Amino acid sequence: MNYYDKLGIKKLINAVDTYTIIGGSTMPDEVINAMVDASKHFVNLDQLQEKAGEHIASLTKNEGAYITSGAAAGLAISTAACITGTNPAKAEQLPNTSNLKSEVIIHRCQRNGYDHAIRQVGVKLVEIGNVDITYTWQLENAINDRTACIVYFMASVFSKGALPLSEVIRIGKNYGIPVIVDAAAQLPPVENLWKYTHMGADLVVFSGGKTLRGPQSSGVVLGKKELVEACKINGNPNHSLGRSMKVGKEEMVGLLAAIERYINLDHQKITNQLEGMVSTFQKKLNFPGVTVVRLFPGPVGQTYPRALVRFSQESKYSAIDVKVKLENGDPCIIVGLTEDKSGVIINPLNLQNNEMDIIINRITKIVLNDDE
Ligand SMILES: *Cc1c(COP(=O)(O)O)cnc(C)c1O
Repeated sequence: MNYYDKLGIKKLINAVDTYTIIGGSTMPDEVINAMVDASKHFVNLDQLQEKAGEHIASLTKNEGAYITSGAAAGLAISTAACITGTNPAKAEQLPNTSNLKSEVIIHRCQRNGYDHAIRQVGVKLVEIGNVDITYTWQLENAINDRTACIVYFMASVFSKGALPLSEVIRIGKNYGIPVIVDAAAQLPPVENLWKYTHMGADLVVFSGGKTLRGPQSSGVVLGKKELVEACKINGNPNHSLGRSMKVGKEEMVGLLAAIERYINLDHQKITNQLEGMVSTFQKKLNFPGVTVVRLFPGPVGQTYPRALVRFSQESKYSAIDVKVKLENGDPCIIVGLTEDKSGVIINPLNLQNNEMDIIINRITKIVLNDDE
């Protein structure tokens, strides 16, 4: 009897994505064991942040690394770092930005729910461009002596209409304005852990609770040493803006273990496994009126495949019916839906053990009208 059962909470099969609302990801044993061990001893938290950060920086080929309670916290603390530098008086003043740099430049086409994490620092977002196109002169024109940083969201959905990251970095360097990249879900490929910083981005934020499979409440900021130092004074355990985004010793050690594990995985083998799973869905869901095609890339541009299941006009069920039936059944299976709602999307990334077979059996029963 575990607490989910005791509380009457349904366990879900995650065939959709590393969504926070359904638990992000699951932790491998290496991560769990590292956290359990970390939980049994007292340590100095500043020292742990320092040493774990150095270790993560070297694993990810970066100058510095700062562990946060998530990618969203990373955005807030990175923004604060660009405003205050290592000046504790400025850090104490936040989120009041009067007489401090108080503007953050963002592409209009990249506005999204996570920009609240930036706004909570007390800054004004200055939008550039429109949904279709952004010009370099618009970015240059937005820069002034109140500009704290430029924030850039990496994801396939945010690239249409935006300047390329390389161009944003070039302009940032010309004007001495740091560039923060939100790459929260940009894994795989593993190289992304250093790609954007090596391109010249100043700070890059990743979620620890998605594909890295660290603690759900963890994240990391990678990048320039001096800005990582500035993150520290704006973060826990200092009384600061980031104090309310506390990272415990267990999360710090758990994230370090997760990154160490992730870096050392056989990524080609995992890609092959995910491709194999998509092929299996194609082979096993071979019914009249049902077609399964390989979708690539992942939901926000990651380098792994998914299975897109379409139901023809003649089939008894629409994609929405199938999605609802999978969710209402036991166990509850969460799948995605195409934007036009014409197909169900199965993401193999988070499937464990026999979950692929469970999904295949359930869809088979639904399609053969044998599920009541
Ligand atoms: C998931 C996500 C975040 C938030 O990550 P957390 O680790 O849950 O805080 C921020 N930005 C983007 C683009 C994301 O996909």
